[in-house]
Amino acid sequence: MSVHVEDERSKKIVFVANCLLNANNKVMEIARYQGMFSEVIRTLDEYGIGINQMPCPETLYCGCQRWHTSRNLYDNVGYRRFCRKMASPMVDYMVNYSKVGYKVVGILTCDGSPSCGITKSSYCEDWGGRPRGIARTLVDKPGIYMEEMLALMKERGVSLPPVYGLAMDDYDMTTEEIIADFKAWVESSL
Ligand code: SF4
Repeated sequence: MSVHVEDERSKKIVFVANCLLNANNKVMEIARYQGMFSEVIRTLDEYGIGINQMPCPETLYCGCQRWHTSRNLYDNVGYRRFCRKMASPMVDYMVNYSKVGYKVVGILTCDGSPSCGITKSSYCEDWGGRPRGIARTLVDKPGIYMEEMLALMKERGVSLPPVYGLAMDDYDMTTEEIIADFKAWVESSL
């Protein structure tokens, strides 16, 4: 029988894309808030859920002044290897949590990102080479970081929690609509 005394912790954790806690890591010109996406963070706090902030693979790989880009440009061996390296300590956290019965209640990420999207990621076959104005589109695939992270979780036998992508790249949606959709997801899934 355990001799440990229970404390206040909820034993519930969500893994959150870096820029939801720090808009300064977003690629330039697309941040919808100044620092944290506070409504989203407040909602998680209301449920007593702790946050593990995942690293921003694009800032660490390409810096703050990087170009807007697409999943097909990032879909190369070097970036995949880098994403997997970034994902590895996140999966280590998950393994440690599961050993003591803590629950990873979800992964919260940013749809549309070529790295962190889950149901959608940006795509343009014609991007690359000399920079010029070619419109990208969204494909129904995860970004490269999320793809590597989920593959690593599967390889290491970590069960997959619900994964939700805030529709950050959908400019037909207002920020209020994104928050409302997120709250509905929280209420139905967590
Ligand atoms: S979506 Fe991912 S790669 Fe893009 S800024 Fe946020 S954390 Fe970085």
